[in-house]
Amino acid sequence: MTDLSRERAAALDAADPLASLRDAFVHDDRGLIYLDGNSLGRLPKAGAERIAQVVREEWGAGLVRSWSHWVDLPTRTGDLIGSALLGAAPGQVAVSDSTTVNLYKLAVAALDARPDRTVIVTDDDNFPTDRYVFEGLAAQRGLELRVVRSDIDEGLDLDALRDAVDETTALVSLSHVAYRSGALLDMATVNEIAHGAGALILWDLCHSAGAVPVELDATGADLAVGCTYKYLNGGPGAPAFLYVRGELRSGLRQPIWGWFGQRDQFEMGPSYDPVRGVERFLTGTPAVVAVAAVEEGVRLLAEAGIGRLRTKGVALTGYLIELAGAWLPAVTLATPVDPARRGSHVSLCHPEAWRLAQALIEENVIPDYRAPDRLRLGPAPITTRFTDVWDALDRLRRIVDDKTYERFPAEPSRVT
Ligand SMILES: *Cc1c(COP(=O)(O)O)cnc(C)c1O
Repeated sequence: MTDLSRERAAALDAADPLASLRDAFVHDDRGLIYLDGNSLGRLPKAGAERIAQVVREEWGAGLVRSWSHWVDLPTRTGDLIGSALLGAAPGQVAVSDSTTVNLYKLAVAALDARPDRTVIVTDDDNFPTDRYVFEGLAAQRGLELRVVRSDIDEGLDLDALRDAVDETTALVSLSHVAYRSGALLDMATVNEIAHGAGALILWDLCHSAGAVPVELDATGADLAVGCTYKYLNGGPGAPAFLYVRGELRSGLRQPIWGWFGQRDQFEMGPSYDPVRGVERFLTGTPAVVAVAAVEEGVRLLAEAGIGRLRTKGVALTGYLIELAGAWLPAVTLATPVDPARRGSHVSLCHPEAWRLAQALIEENVIPDYRAPDRLRLGPAPITTRFTDVWDALDRLRRIVDDKTYERFPAEPSRVT
């Protein structure tokens, strides 16, 4: 019988090489257990200080003169994300716009690079914004959106993907880690499937960047996008990142011909002539304050090291799964049990998942709920302790056993 005591959780915390990084984050409520770091990461103290410094000194005192260094912020931060988290050499990653907008920009660039092909392939469990963007593109361009059926707990079956990709496919786009189940795809194999048919591959890394090692260069990925407000702790609505493989860059054009992608930008020339660098995928003036906060968030992840973050993420999610298996017979696991096939969050299936989520929040544990009946628990490795997982699962088992969740409304609210 394995040891399910809280002492064991405390021992795991004591042996955690990343434990001290927890203090790099703001914890106004020391008792709060935050298991939604995969939706909105915690506030780094350095991020709060940097925002204040940019506002007061760089904006307040420096005013327009600060643009001399602000102008490099999107690519400098992109290079840091690339080298620390994405296995991307410098000059291929930039921070700009939102994930949705970047997805659109890179998808259009890819489709224009395969003008004779008529099909976009994705899967039905991809994140909604991805599916909608592709649906819109297919409608606007008279293309076929081929949506592969995916298991909402186990993820996409690669044989089904192989069957869907052929010589008519221009673009394959998938989430590396599934937003609901946490199922993790084998990037190298998917890249091979797309390239074998002559298609380009565009990855959504929102739930993998900062949680699992990503090797964009080594696996031959073409394009990628991802959020910075989840595991990267950049703050609500922080600008997203995009990656374009260096050797593809000059052959790709994005649809938004903005002046931040323009050669000799300040010559204010008569027509669009994009730079050769990754800046050609920028659009307009960057959100300086927000990008500066992203840089601080990513610095902390770089300090932790993606290998150690992954090791801890596997341990935390494995521990969560172990406790859930022992204590919650009414709940089923909706995440791959094989650690090599999951990211850093776990979904539990229960018909009253929405009420369980509300009851947990009342117990000072923040999970989230995902339709139709999933309780999603994201113990972000950089800020979560093993004792947090123990305490959260202990409270959850009492909520389930005592049926205290029945006091909460059954109808989900607008934001879940
Ligand atoms: C969170 C998330 C997004 C969000 O995109 P925004 O443009 O920032 O709203 C997109 N894709 C995936 C997979 C996500 O998890």
